Amino acid sequence: MTGIDGKVVAITGASSGIGAAIALELAARGAAVVIGARRTDRLDALVERIHAAGGRAKAVTVDVTQRSDLERLVTTALDRFERLDVLVSNAGIARTAPIAELDVDSWDAMIDANLRSVLYGIAAALPVFRRQGRGHLVTTVSTSGLKIVPMQAVYAGTKNAVRTLLEALRQESTDGVLRTTSVSPGLVRTELVDYVTDPEIRKLAQERMATGIAPEAVARAVAFAIEQPDDVEIGDIVIRPTTQN
Ligand code: NDP
Repeated sequence: MTGIDGKVVAITGASSGIGAAIALELAARGAAVVIGARRTDRLDALVERIHAAGGRAKAVTVDVTQRSDLERLVTTALDRFERLDVLVSNAGIARTAPIAELDVDSWDAMIDANLRSVLYGIAAALPVFRRQGRGHLVTTVSTSGLKIVPMQAVYAGTKNAVRTLLEALRQESTDGVLRTTSVSPGLVRTELVDYVTDPEIRKLAQERMATGIAPEAVARAVAFAIEQPDDVEIGDIVIRPTTQN
């Protein structure tokens, strides 16, 4: 199946930023999107917007740190749209601090939201992909995992762990059933760093993010990977502002 029209795509972290942009881009191109996050009001507004434009969408309240929520996201896609072609594991959080601050709660939160969540998504979607004979797993990782900088050790570690497990999964799945894609955005203008607790670090991070690209640019890159013919896998995409060092 080439293209996007008619595919069923589940997206985590679709209540804002990159995930919301992916949902809008794919729905506009004919996909049925099943969108998950915790902020249900935001999801409902997005569903309304997609429906108003003639698209197909269904919202599911999902906390990606809970395995059962990922299972519910996948079963909702099957119940509502009868299949699942793509899972975009995009939800994530970023907490910025030197390791020596020993902010163990933030470490745990990032491991849960950025890494464990992807494993739970794989556990929920892989049996469906195998049963269908086709499936595509897309993850939003980060250039933070490619260029190591201080203050982002655990965040970058979770993103590199996801990159590693997707590559392993790819090598274990060369029977043509599964496609895997890791998208590594650089700075993107979203709410990601609005939740950094230290006000000074937050302000600096927000100023940096303001120099980023629009989330729609990442959405187009994801669409590019999804629209390829079934036998073509776009493995890694790095997408960043031309001004990022
Ligand atoms: P946003 O903060 O706008 O979006 C993050 C999304 O993740 C929200 O929809 C949020 O939904 C969701 N989310 C967070 N925690 C959970 C949870 N426990 N359960 C369910 N959903 C959750 O930031 P971005 O759009 O930038 O982030 C999207 C992805 O892109 C992240 O993985 C991030 O690491 C990655 N990324 C972003 C970059 C950037 O510069 N912006 C650069 C590189 C990678 P809700 O709070 O409603 O649950």
